[in-house]
Amino acid sequence: MKPWESGIRKVTPYIPGEQPRISDIIKLNTNENPYPPSPAVEKVISGYPTETLRLYPDPACQVLVDAIAEYYGIGRDCVFVGIGSDDVLALSFLTFFNQELPILFPDITYSFYDVWAELYRIPFRRIPLDEGFAWHKEDYRIPNGGIVLANPNAPTGLYANLNDIEDVLSHNPDSIVIIDEAYIDFGGTSALPLLKKYDNLLIVQTFSKSRSLAGMRIGYAMGNPLLIRYLNDVKYSFNSYTMNRVTLEAGAAAIKDRDYFVQNCQNIIHTREESKKRLARLGFSFPDSMTNFIFASHEHIDAEELFTALKEHGIFVRHFGADRIKNYLRITIGLPQQMDTLFDFLASYIEKHA
Ligand code: PMP
Repeated sequence: MKPWESGIRKVTPYIPGEQPRISDIIKLNTNENPYPPSPAVEKVISGYPTETLRLYPDPACQVLVDAIAEYYGIGRDCVFVGIGSDDVLALSFLTFFNQELPILFPDITYSFYDVWAELYRIPFRRIPLDEGFAWHKEDYRIPNGGIVLANPNAPTGLYANLNDIEDVLSHNPDSIVIIDEAYIDFGGTSALPLLKKYDNLLIVQTFSKSRSLAGMRIGYAMGNPLLIRYLNDVKYSFNSYTMNRVTLEAGAAAIKDRDYFVQNCQNIIHTREESKKRLARLGFSFPDSMTNFIFASHEHIDAEELFTALKEHGIFVRHFGADRIKNYLRITIGLPQQMDTLFDFLASYIEKHA
């Protein structure tokens, strides 16, 4: 070890899903949307006046904040935007989780939460999900320094109803409760109506999934103006120009195209429901997903073996090594024809190996 290494902040980083450089693969490994973004985005980008890029962007991100506020019918002072919801969540952990008591989140959830907690040295406690991967509201009635719940949860896909979310909020008036709604548009109901009642609620969403803009990096938080002000104070203490000019305009155009968004989500939901039936017929079991992915385990075939076989066949899905979930594959919902290829392969593989 070098003498200066003892003073370094050492972290075990989050491992993002693979982004292979080859293009003729079926990419079902990082929950991207298989459909293109709204045509309104293409219009903004292709006509973008590049000479304006010599200027800094608006640090308050007003066009995008206003478009999001208008879409949801809330005040512009209730919205914060960032570089994907990862950026918004990371800043939220830094801003809101500052107590000696541990923050709480499920043992199986988005694997970035414990990485941020370690990075910022926030104590945390993982609350075990039950056998069916559900969380229980009673488990969140213990002293804590904050709570973060993904709803629907990832990578399980399970959605918790708003009564359970409200129970957590009402039992924890002294903590900030973050609800990560990255996948809410695929059939769940947002906790947004609870904002009026609970000033300790922060809802985080993203343009990466339901708005087909993972490559643009847009995430946002919705909460009461005081929370948003505290978030902005931290943001301006870190990097004031987070969102670039093109992204701000493209994001505003995307959220205004409500019809395209609704149709896009319906397409994914339809393919997901079909995929559930096909998986069940092949001997897979899975929590009932309300997202754009299905977390599936086969009755006879080992998940890692299947993961490797799929990859060799040019079909990328996600496999996590953690104990309780190592026999599951997380399969993103792709285009119907991509799912056909996946199911053709699965059927013949299972026939040969089961
Ligand atoms: N939350 C959850 C639960 C996720 O699965 C993801 C996607 N990896 C994110 C947040 C972050 O997404 P993004 O930064 O693209 O908005």
